[in-house]
Amino acid sequence: MDKKRYIAEKYIEEAKQLHKENMVVDAHLDLAAEIFYRRLGGEKDIIKNRFLDNWKYAGLNLIVSSVFVESQLLPSMGLLNTMDQIAALYEEIDALDDELMIVKSKEDLRKLKTAHKIGILLYMEGLDCIGDHVSLLRALYEMGVRGASLTWSRQNMLATGSGGSRDKENPKGGLTKAGREVIRYMEDHHMFVDVSHINDDGFYEIAECATRPFIASHSNARTVQYAHRNLGDDQMEILKNAGGIMGLNAAGCFVGVKNETATEEDCLNGLCRQVEYEVGKIGSEHVGFGFDLCDSYYRALPSFPVKNYVEEDCLTSYAQMIELTALLLQRGMSKDDVVNVIGGNFYRYFMDILPE
Ligand SMILES: [Zn+2]
Repeated sequence: MDKKRYIAEKYIEEAKQLHKENMVVDAHLDLAAEIFYRRLGGEKDIIKNRFLDNWKYAGLNLIVSSVFVESQLLPSMGLLNTMDQIAALYEEIDALDDELMIVKSKEDLRKLKTAHKIGILLYMEGLDCIGDHVSLLRALYEMGVRGASLTWSRQNMLATGSGGSRDKENPKGGLTKAGREVIRYMEDHHMFVDVSHINDDGFYEIAECATRPFIASHSNARTVQYAHRNLGDDQMEILKNAGGIMGLNAAGCFVGVKNETATEEDCLNGLCRQVEYEVGKIGSEHVGFGFDLCDSYYRALPSFPVKNYVEEDCLTSYAQMIELTALLLQRGMSKDDVVNVIGGNFYRYFMDILPE
């Protein structure tokens, strides 16, 4: 209690209650990739041992798991690595089938409310693995993939990412012909479109050609913290007008927190500042969580340990979602707004997009 003296106990209790009674969603986690690399290293039962208790404590109902392929595996190993990750994720879900379920449809989403299981929704963070073979989306769909971003921060045969470093941030260039076909295919086949990581030109082009609401699963507000990965005010407005949602990314560099020196309190306040700005700008109906908790994933990579690694996540674990919600309440956010942000919006969005 003493450690958390900056959050009054009554708000912690209120937050726990809200998480218990309402849908709680994280719209971005590199879960499939982390599971694949940890299993490669001989580890087993990764969800059970590393995630499940915290997910339950936070009352999570739905986790959107990305398939993310590391750059050095592209292009030749892209499809193989994608299938390896999907296979590994399914094995973990199968082993915990009284606790977890894969979500592919509205019917599955409805079940989450009664089955007392946590749903896993599979999507591609970048479609590098299909090259320009749009027809491969059909195969990914059959494997359970229900959404995608065209690119990660790099360029591929569909679009250009927002860049990996300051000197080459936001390179020019919109969607390729195949990229536009992918958007059309996904909209026609009940798959969601994610604009996180795409460059500005690509963002505006998707906004032009999209006929369905799209999301930025893990992007923050550029006005609060400048980063090419964050969204400008005008982009937030466009996203809102399209009926979309932006997910709060918990990485310090996108939140506006210096991980090297920040305390836990600084981190949580930083997250609140982002949420409050976004809600003030585009309304609580268009803001959610897409934490992209990365520290555990980086540790799973064969290339780790990185020297002098500084933790990036502003949440130490999913369990801390309760404190984040409590602090939002304490700082004055209404319960209705909080319910939208913790998962109500993303749940409604996926109910709208996924097939029956
Ligand atoms: Zn990402």
